[in-house]
Amino acid sequence: MSIGRSWWHEILLLAACVGLAAILGVASGYLSGAFLLAGAIYIGWHLLQMLRYHVWMRDGEHYSMPIPLGVWKAAIDGVVELRQSERLREKRLLQMLESFQASTNALPDATLVVDESGTIEWINQSATRLLGISRHDVSRVQVTGIFASPRFDAYLKSNNYRTPIKLTSPVDNGVLLELRVAPFGENKRLLQLRDISRLEQLETIRQDFVANVSHEMRTPLTVIRGYLESMSDAGESMADWQPVLEQMDRQSARLQQIVEDLLLLSRVEQGETTGMEEVVDVPGLLDVLLTEARLLSGERAHRISLQADEKLLLKGHASELRSLFSNLVFNAIAYTPPRGVIEIRWFMEGGSAVFSVLDTGIGIEQQHIPRLTERFYRVDEGRSRKSGGTGLGLAIVKHVLNSHDGRLVIESRYGSGSTFICRFPSSHVSKSGGA
Ligand code: ADP
Repeated sequence: MSIGRSWWHEILLLAACVGLAAILGVASGYLSGAFLLAGAIYIGWHLLQMLRYHVWMRDGEHYSMPIPLGVWKAAIDGVVELRQSERLREKRLLQMLESFQASTNALPDATLVVDESGTIEWINQSATRLLGISRHDVSRVQVTGIFASPRFDAYLKSNNYRTPIKLTSPVDNGVLLELRVAPFGENKRLLQLRDISRLEQLETIRQDFVANVSHEMRTPLTVIRGYLESMSDAGESMADWQPVLEQMDRQSARLQQIVEDLLLLSRVEQGETTGMEEVVDVPGLLDVLLTEARLLSGERAHRISLQADEKLLLKGHASELRSLFSNLVFNAIAYTPPRGVIEIRWFMEGGSAVFSVLDTGIGIEQQHIPRLTERFYRVDEGRSRKSGGTGLGLAIVKHVLNSHDGRLVIESRYGSGSTFICRFPSSHVSKSGGA
């Protein structure tokens, strides 16, 4: 290990002290006295330097800096270097913080950091605009106080943030926000609120357009079907036209069914679900459906069975639920060969009410399953048309389930059959003879 320059200087200083003491001692005849005095001066000087060093380190005052001589020069240089690199690091951190703040402020979305108790720790610029909170009193504000919405409180407490929720801006009723929450660190959460008013507006325009077009088509179609019926009943004079009239009637009936399905879909989508708190007698509804299913099966003689918990009722919308159940049962008939088995079940499982339809039909290849609930998605266009399908059945099923907070699971094996399972949460369950 090499000793530094400063230490060489220190050794030289000490040697000079010893030399001077020796010369003075020899000249005066008090050799030991001269050494004692030199030692005392040397130690005293170092003690004084130590004191200055202490004050300099504590207060940072330049005047108290030790005289940069010998080992003290090494000590001073070390401290100065350390302070410089510290300052450089601070500057870099500050620059990073500034650019982070500048970038989050440039975000059009409101961003908030809240601690475990729900107190806001940090917000960006957009949050002040979208939520009307000032950056100064941010540390005193509870995030639940901003929206004053039980839905927001419940969502934040749920710890399940997979699906974002929509909220109205607390400063402007016309602004709709989409909230996403990401937990991080120790019980901290990052809240991101996006203005989706424009998207929502476009979605409403699309829904209105489909609903209006469907509505406008309803009357002309009824008139056309009426005339077709009259022409079919005209007897001899129209005999040659019978095949054409039958074809026209079949097609217009299909068109009418599409229009009705589109209108139902629009109603469910737009949340026009008045009577949602109605208690629906599902077992009774399924009894009627069973009779209809057997009639529809006709000569195909499917072996249809129903197993229903007679006491299990559901809070919801009766006609929508009827559409949901019938779409699944009629699909099972349409896609199961003659004499196939169809099992309809209605029961409680793990706190949820479950409606399931099992069939031993043609089944569905796995790659189609995620897309089945899209409007007009068909696995086999020709087969669907032949069975009179509109391609909207499963889209209706999905939307009705959504409006009842339910979930759809499709299990299928190509060539051997399918099971469609609908689960309704306990909040929608109602038992006859009890709540
Ligand atoms: P469609 O009116 O064509 O039946 P749906 O939305 O009800 O429209 O169903 C979408 C597609 O899903 C159907 O075209 C069909 O290919 C498939 N599908 C639905 N139910 C069944 C089933 N039980 N078995 C086999 N395939 C089915």
